[in-house]
Amino acid sequence: MRLKKSFGQHLLISEGVLKKIVEALGVKEGEHVVEIGGGTGNLTRKLLETPLRKLTVLELDPEMVAKLKEIRDERLEVLNEDATRFPFCLLGGELKLAGNLPYNAASLITENLVYHRRCVPLAVFMYQKEVAERLLGKGEQGWLSVFVRTFYEPEYLTTVPPRFFKPPPKVLSGVLRLKRKENAPPLDAKDYKTFLTRVFAQKRKALKNKLPEELLVKAGVDPSARVEQLSVEQFVKLYELLKQEGK
Ligand code: SAH
Repeated sequence: MRLKKSFGQHLLISEGVLKKIVEALGVKEGEHVVEIGGGTGNLTRKLLETPLRKLTVLELDPEMVAKLKEIRDERLEVLNEDATRFPFCLLGGELKLAGNLPYNAASLITENLVYHRRCVPLAVFMYQKEVAERLLGKGEQGWLSVFVRTFYEPEYLTTVPPRFFKPPPKVLSGVLRLKRKENAPPLDAKDYKTFLTRVFAQKRKALKNKLPEELLVKAGVDPSARVEQLSVEQFVKLYELLKQEGK
């Protein structure tokens, strides 16, 4: 089968890494797992070795969907869907997500996960290493990293070299486990995203050029600081104060 670049198809062929992803998910009897981007089913087959009750695979490429449907297992459901916009909560109330993500859509899929956090306590995803590190809060920060870390606790599990994929990507990959924070603030995530993208625009500018100075002081933030210097807690505090003042 010809693999398609446009779909970000790099199949994971390392038995060891596949095993690690499945173990990190800690699937218990009766659980419902959702796999994103099943491809030819390498991870799918491994997931089916756990005591899960149901495995739903979301796959965008109809050719891959046909391949996945060849796997005979009555716990398996294969849906030809786009994981960047699929409403995960339609599938159930307690889902574990897993996937060797298509790198061109990984950010959008992660954003979509946050919108559906009420039904996803845990996700284990393979990313481009650099993207995984940014989500952890290392390196250059962007709104998505703060967005994710407001609601999930990311943990870096392992680095995966290109030779473990077919065809090999040009970059290193990294596996993240995202555990939902049970004490996350009850924010309207869409509105919070709008706020974050606004304060992250023109990163080099001091915060006082983007938000009222008295608000920054109230939140305990130095008005001459730049957006990248803030903690997740400070973003939440600023957002909440802004909402209270109706701005
Ligand atoms: N899990 C497989 C394949 C990973 S490659 C393995 O490890 O071998 C990424 C897969 O995601 C490809 O099969 C690709 O077709 C699929 N994909 C790409 N964009 C997608 C999207 N938006 N929603 C769901 N699947 C997608």
